[in-house]
Amino acid sequence: MTEGALTAAYLASSILFILALGGLSNQETARRGNVYGIIGMAIALVATIAGAHVASYGVVAVCMLIGAVIGITVAARVQMTAMPELVAILHSFVGMAAVLVGFASYLDPSVNFEGVEKTIHEVEIYLGVLIGAVTFTGSVIAFGKLSGRITSKPLALPARHWLNLGLGLACIVLGVQFVGAQGHAAGAVPLIIMTLIAFVFGAHMVMAIGGADMPVVISMLNSYSGWAAAATGFMLSNDLLIVTGALVGSSGAILSYIMCRAMNRKFLAVIAGGFGTGGGTVVSAGEVDQGEVVSISAEETAELLRGAKSVVIVPGYGMAVAQAQHVISEITKKLRERGVNVRFAIHPVAGRMPGHMNVLLAEAKVPYDIVLEMDEVNHDLPHTDLVLVIGANDIVNPDALEDPNSPIAGMPVLEVWKAATVVVMKRSMATGYAGVQNPLFFKENTRMLFGDAKASVDAISASV
Ligand code: NDP
Repeated sequence: MTEGALTAAYLASSILFILALGGLSNQETARRGNVYGIIGMAIALVATIAGAHVASYGVVAVCMLIGAVIGITVAARVQMTAMPELVAILHSFVGMAAVLVGFASYLDPSVNFEGVEKTIHEVEIYLGVLIGAVTFTGSVIAFGKLSGRITSKPLALPARHWLNLGLGLACIVLGVQFVGAQGHAAGAVPLIIMTLIAFVFGAHMVMAIGGADMPVVISMLNSYSGWAAAATGFMLSNDLLIVTGALVGSSGAILSYIMCRAMNRKFLAVIAGGFGTGGGTVVSAGEVDQGEVVSISAEETAELLRGAKSVVIVPGYGMAVAQAQHVISEITKKLRERGVNVRFAIHPVAGRMPGHMNVLLAEAKVPYDIVLEMDEVNHDLPHTDLVLVIGANDIVNPDALEDPNSPIAGMPVLEVWKAATVVVMKRSMATGYAGVQNPLFFKENTRMLFGDAKASVDAISASV
């Protein structure tokens, strides 16, 4: 393929990626957005393989085969509930790729830049390896936290901010040494030391972030993986990788901003770690609050549904675990046919990844126009007859508004307790992801429907 054809193919891919992002920003056009993305990626792959840079097709074929088999197997096996951790581990691959490309690019004997060009190339390498290494370990820790292998509680090392500052300063000093070094051997030492420091920094940064703040970390690592890819593009002089990386990096940054606003957090405070953990009550799962809870049966819940004129359904992570979305969609259909005003209320951080609940409800064919954002529905909750909370916990915790010492203090929540009656479906009195108790369960107008959410909604559906 000629250079001109390659540039044209990359341009087409870039446009398709932009259209893909545009499509993915809305539920109704998301499917089309995905198709644009797939076509764009296919063009990019074919053009790159057909380009003049490929030295050995055998190696490329073997690597693609191994990658495709792993990718297809993982994608086919992954449960919907494990998607967030899969995304986290995929981000770590982008980070590691940037580190490896950086080292390869530095050691490549065929690259012989002089003067300013050499300096620019070395700065690209240094930044690419730095961002890649932070992304790698940060994403591995995020994977551990999301999959429950590592505790979601923040690690609050004494003087952690000084530690971060020290690591940051060390990276700057090593960067100056690296760019000024004479010869590859002299430059490799500061590059390797910085890589190790960046590994520690990435791991420490994510370890210090508490459960409730993880959504910001997920979107931030998404953004970092984009910048790591863009840096790789600079090192390889690959325009498409630069454009794609910049698209991912900037859309991830916008998502981080949206998440921070949704949680009423300052980005820097979250990244510095341990935000809002100064003395809050973080309890281990299973620890029970003092007070009386009132249970309710599925039949009684169906009775309440039959008598209600307006119903708001709040899905949370437990709905994803139980896979209860299809049955709840059927119940919604039945109720709407009877003239009940049913709506879904989505908290921006519900579930374990941005848009998690929207994806599940779209999969279950819940009409988009009754799926509302938190801000659209909160003011209406005092006029609602019945709220059904399905496997949600932190996002309906009144302590976020009422207890300034709570680890989730300040986070806007769905104020479901203002409705006439609230039915909470969960299996036990266990805490949510943030590890905090929820006074909602003890309120006078709250009824607890204990059991797996799928079994509960099945029983309600039968009675409705
Ligand atoms: P939570 O994790 O707060 O609560 C989920 C609840 O679901 C649990 O209390 C659990 O209680 C219940 N549950 C689990 N399995 C089932 C089941 N099979 N049937 C019925 N109930 C079940 O979820 P929320 O959606 O309310 O809040 C999301 C939390 O995750 C927030 O803290 C958020 O910050 C965090 N987070 C969000 C991310 C995002 O991007 N959206 C990313 C990372 C973290 P029990 O065990 O008693 O059944």
